[in-house]
Amino acid sequence: MALLTKAPRGTQDVLPGESHRWQYVENTLLRTAELFGFREIRFPTFEHTELFQRSVGDTTDVVQKEMYTFTDKGDRSITLRPEGTAGTVRAVMEHGLLGEALPLKVSYITSCFRYEKPQAGRLREFHQFGAEVFGSEGPSADAELIAMASEVLTAVGVPAESLTLEVNSIGCPHCRPKYHDALKAYFEGHKDKLCPTCLERLEKNPLRILDCKSPICGEIAAGAPVVLDHLCEECSTHFQGLQTRLDALNIPYVVNPRIVRGLDYYTKTVFEFVSGQISAQGTVCGGGRYDGLVEELGGQHTPALGFGMGIERLLLVLDAAKAEMPDPVNCDIYLANMGEAAALKAFELCGQLRQAGFYAECDLMGRSLKAQMKYANKLNARYSMVLGDSEIETGKANLKNMSTGEQTEVEIGDDFSDIIYDMMANAAYNEL
Ligand code: ATP
Ligand code: MG
Repeated sequence: MALLTKAPRGTQDVLPGESHRWQYVENTLLRTAELFGFREIRFPTFEHTELFQRSVGDTTDVVQKEMYTFTDKGDRSITLRPEGTAGTVRAVMEHGLLGEALPLKVSYITSCFRYEKPQAGRLREFHQFGAEVFGSEGPSADAELIAMASEVLTAVGVPAESLTLEVNSIGCPHCRPKYHDALKAYFEGHKDKLCPTCLERLEKNPLRILDCKSPICGEIAAGAPVVLDHLCEECSTHFQGLQTRLDALNIPYVVNPRIVRGLDYYTKTVFEFVSGQISAQGTVCGGGRYDGLVEELGGQHTPALGFGMGIERLLLVLDAAKAEMPDPVNCDIYLANMGEAAALKAFELCGQLRQAGFYAECDLMGRSLKAQMKYANKLNARYSMVLGDSEIETGKANLKNMSTGEQTEVEIGDDFSDIIYDMMANAAYNEL
């Protein structure tokens, strides 16, 4: 029975008292991204498994250990998306958007699924705000994307000092092989201490060792050759160009040559926004360039870049910073009733108010007047009104301002909602 009333490990419910925070954050992210030209894209929750193997990369933890993969009834291997870039790239290729006006800028909010060890800020179903830019080769696109990430974080209320922007370049197919060789030579010398997964990585993709979460591998990795010393001229110039533009925009950053990112498809720029306040899972946003991905999936060479921002972690940062969030919408007016005729009238007026755009409530529980008023208080209603036989008879009732206690007699006829509108507008004006 416990299975019926307990959500699967690593999943989270967002309850009615919390969802307004999600709505606020999600709307702010998407709306702010629009100011940079990003338009929303939506794509399926699941894709062919091969798409993630090819794009995220066979040697990554995500593909090797974390994917939710199953065979459907048509004998296809299907995977719940572990991230949003692969689905986005597949969608823009499938619909020919890369042949239209470039750059193409898209953003999204999606759930992602990874079979990980759940802990604070690490879930099996989590949510990402993501953004991708296609078509632009130069460092201006990198700087603009990072500026957008920085701006959305500010717009939702993250104080500047809560997050540090770290940038790095991990080179391109021209310079990375030489760096791989240098890494390989270095790690060969520490073979006896590496974890079994890293021993495999040593053969297939030594860069991955730098991302290993085991402390011993981490210690060894700390002494490894640094990628920035191995960049080719083009990558080096690109990275310099990014820094010049971040400086021009007054966006503070630090160069962290240790960032490699968890996914295989990155080239040149990689970046993270990191918090020191939300436990070990401090990376709120991670992204970078993936100039080879479209081609890898069978398209024409198309430079591209993007990021993923974890919404759960973003909410943790906002909590830790005690950032202000809007309150949930409160009830405008509660219509209490005594007696059957009044109950019907309350029901009717409630309908009128809602059509006029008010959040109005009346009794659905058959409660006593006292219990109804208690409920109105619980709803934090701004106004209330009691309707009984005499109010029905006279066609007038008292509207009570719940915070001041002030009462005003109003007519309860056909233009009830107009009267209420004027009164509330006046009251709001007087409060200014
Ligand atoms: P980490 O190093 O924390 O495992 P990652 O490199 O796997 O992160 P990305 O694939 O780049 O993360 O995803 C982008 C963002 O999505 C992360 O910076 C984080 O905010 C969020 N994220 C990733 N995995 C999870 C998860 N399991 N639970 C909650 N948020 C996550
Ligand atoms: Mg991860």
